[in-house]
Amino acid sequence: MNVHRLLREHDLRPDKALGQNFLVDETVLSRIAASTRPSDSDIILEIGAGTGALTKLLAEGAGRVIALELDEKLLPILRSELQEHDNVTVLQGDILALDPAALVEEARREMGMPRASYKVAGNLPYYITSAIIRHLMEAELRPDLMVVTVQYEVAKRIVAEPGDTSVLTVSVQFYGEPELLFRIKSGSFYPRPNVDSAVVRIDVDPAPPLPEEETDLFFRVVRAGFSQRRKQLHNAISAGLGEVLSKDEAADRLDRVGIDHRRRAQTLSVEEWISLTRAVRDVLES
Ligand code: SAM
Repeated sequence: MNVHRLLREHDLRPDKALGQNFLVDETVLSRIAASTRPSDSDIILEIGAGTGALTKLLAEGAGRVIALELDEKLLPILRSELQEHDNVTVLQGDILALDPAALVEEARREMGMPRASYKVAGNLPYYITSAIIRHLMEAELRPDLMVVTVQYEVAKRIVAEPGDTSVLTVSVQFYGEPELLFRIKSGSFYPRPNVDSAVVRIDVDPAPPLPEEETDLFFRVVRAGFSQRRKQLHNAISAGLGEVLSKDEAADRLDRVGIDHRRRAQTLSVEEWISLTRAVRDVLES
């Protein structure tokens, strides 16, 4: 049913503070659902299910959908809109406070699946997009695939190439391969956001490129590098790591692993950040 009417019937208005811009374009919704490469053995965790417009389409292709929504006021709508879909579990909660493994485990048991694996879909609330992506990527149980609608500018940052990267780029590309699938005009949403959006699909690698104990160090080094993105890397690394390395030592270690110390953080590839982490690991662990 039409989102305006549904909200009006329940005497509700979109809550801007919760990033409520509902997708009302059926063609776009169908394209998003199809981009999850649906299969009846899938468990899909939908983040921010809203009034259930995307949830219904996901439920048609997936084995099970966990529809998570923070706003209690939307729950009655969500429940009644999805009542005919017995493969959907509606849950109220804040994704940032929940462990995806716990959510998925119950669905896995119900489906009698031997292994817990899941996909994520969602038209993400814009005010916490990066936090949600990081939360899922850094979780013990990572999704196999994510199809998320984000602001177009954020989508471009996620898929950026060396030369133009940010902490978000590295966080996503460390764990998987993102692809910008298509743009969505602001007129496809109610209410219209001020900016365009885009759908990004992330194929998550089964195993990250570093073991868990080195991953924390990796992100410390990345954050240090980007803490002063206009500065040359040896300066940023030295300052960002609290001067456990002098600028000269940082320059020396960078050059030793074949990274010119005069470069800027945004020019490094994930592989180069890994080399750099290994090159400074001893001082961070001591
Ligand atoms: N899926 C719907 C659609 O496409 O029309 C709604 C998308 S809307 C952009 C984002 C939804 O996320 C809102 O319904 C909002 O209430 C919900 N939300 C906001 N913060 C959340 C959080 N921390 N955890 C779960 N859901 C959240």
